[in-house]
Amino acid sequence: MRLELESLLEQADPRVLQRGQELFRRAEFLEATVAQKRYRARLRGSAPYPYRSFIDLKEGTWGCTCPYTWGPVCKHVVALALAILEAPEVFRRVRPKPQKPGMLAELRGLSDGQLVELLWVLYEARPEPLLEFAHQAVQREEQ
Ligand SMILES: [Zn+2]
Repeated sequence: MRLELESLLEQADPRVLQRGQELFRRAEFLEATVAQKRYRARLRGSAPYPYRSFIDLKEGTWGCTCPYTWGPVCKHVVALALAILEAPEVFRRVRPKPQKPGMLAELRGLSDGQLVELLWVLYEARPEPLLEFAHQAVQREEQ
């Protein structure tokens, strides 16, 4: 399925559309990449960690890590869609990450204790993604 960005924008609530336009104009993109029609961006939000949004034009899917659940499209996805339409040059071309299905299967074999140990190792190497994940998981639970 191919996604038309215009139809995605039509699904947004008018106020969300306006906020997304403001976000796009303020250019709050921390990082913007594209790989095989999958656009990703990290955007500054109200949380201490940036939100991650994506729009996949080939698969016709989109998503965002922000807590907005009142409509199909949040302001970050609106800003991302506007950037693709009006400023495609901001997206740095990257190679798609190779899929490694075997790795996840191996993780499923670990005990809870081994998984916690793995999280500590990852936390010590790169704390930010884990803190971001934990913060957003707690936010989702509080809703
Ligand atoms: Zn969002």
